[in-house]
Amino acid sequence: MIYVYPIIHSLDVDTLEYAERVAIHVSDSGTITQVEYLDAGSEVEVGREGEEVVYANDDEFLVPGLVDTHAHAPQFTNIGYGFNLELLDWLNEVTFPTEASYRDAAIAEADFKRVVDATLSVGTTTCSYYSSLHLDATKILARVCHSRGQRALVGKVNMDSNSPDYYRDASAEESLQQTIEYVEYVRNTLQSTLVHPVITPRFAICCSSELLHKLGQYIQQQDVHVQTHLSENKGEIDFTMSLYPDDASYTHIYANRGILTSKSILAHCCHLSKQEVELVRQFNSGISHCPTSNFNLRSGITDVNELLSNGLHKIGLGSDCSGGYEVGILQSLRTASTASKALSIMHSTPSYLSLDRLFYLATLGGARVLSLDNTIGNFRVGKQFDALVINPYTAANKTLFQSVKPVNAQREHKTHKLQRDFERWLFAGTSANIQKVFVDGKQVV
Ligand SMILES: [Zn+2]
Repeated sequence: MIYVYPIIHSLDVDTLEYAERVAIHVSDSGTITQVEYLDAGSEVEVGREGEEVVYANDDEFLVPGLVDTHAHAPQFTNIGYGFNLELLDWLNEVTFPTEASYRDAAIAEADFKRVVDATLSVGTTTCSYYSSLHLDATKILARVCHSRGQRALVGKVNMDSNSPDYYRDASAEESLQQTIEYVEYVRNTLQSTLVHPVITPRFAICCSSELLHKLGQYIQQQDVHVQTHLSENKGEIDFTMSLYPDDASYTHIYANRGILTSKSILAHCCHLSKQEVELVRQFNSGISHCPTSNFNLRSGITDVNELLSNGLHKIGLGSDCSGGYEVGILQSLRTASTASKALSIMHSTPSYLSLDRLFYLATLGGARVLSLDNTIGNFRVGKQFDALVINPYTAANKTLFQSVKPVNAQREHKTHKLQRDFERWLFAGTSANIQKVFVDGKQVV
């Protein structure tokens, strides 16, 4: 299959490439085998006889699929609710009661199909999910991602402490054993090229030191992904350090127990000290920036622009649904921009997240956080074709977009129009502008 489209994709943190006419060759297994840059004005035919070629319709362009590095599948049912609370109260009053209901496999089956369909429809081709603490529900979520065709990391939540009696693992040992059973299920039974297991200690407050040690040993032996929350909220940090008084910092709690690796996904990181940032860098761990959630729960503002400028490039965006109130990553990108500009105003500094950096976070940066950047993140040869076809002029937006279309569109350079359409889609578009979604070369929406 060959797709001939205008494309926009990140080549690195500060390099966004716009190309007016590109032929992307995709093999039957979904791998990008060739990327041809064509003369924008020419109408040359591409491909050999018998090869199927898809040409862009007017105003359409292609971008890589969006990567959500942090979302809680059992919390989607709470979207938009409970934002009068801060993190710890919100967990106890809103989150834990909902997650506990996923002990019922029928609820998990029905809800997780809706969750995966909803995230795919807004262009999330890859998502790193927390399931609930239930083994069966977590297997169901992994199966649903596989059958719906979404690339995903899926993890059973581990929590044996400081959580309600009705919603906690019976012991550290049982939590570990169920986690091992889950990982072996994904690796040996599901055998999906799309779905990976991820070890998911909820956060240090909800995990005993014994549990973190056991999970850390397993992570080191198995070279498996791990995701957790880190330094989200000041009340959370104070409580955490009261539970782990012998560790130098919140980040050290994880580092000292084998939880920090190059496959670690650390959500939030709002209040890291310089020493903690260096620890994250030393372990080459990834940061999931969740700005919408950080504002909603009044957690803090992570200075992602500064982290990127200091060479910490393994950073992506997380919806943190339902700490965040919208499915997908577009809102996170917009809030990341607002958060960065708020810091620029507060500190009277001229720098903030550029468009190039924002889209990097939503795609290639997210792929790096999930250690999947050899597979996804942009349209490089050898990667899998995870892509969105965008048309900013679809019915929902047509009047708005056309009302400020340049009067003399004929004279506007095509690439200039592409840049304008792309930026306006990112900030003023909707999921209705997403015409098609591809994962692994297959159209899934
Ligand atoms: Zn979260």
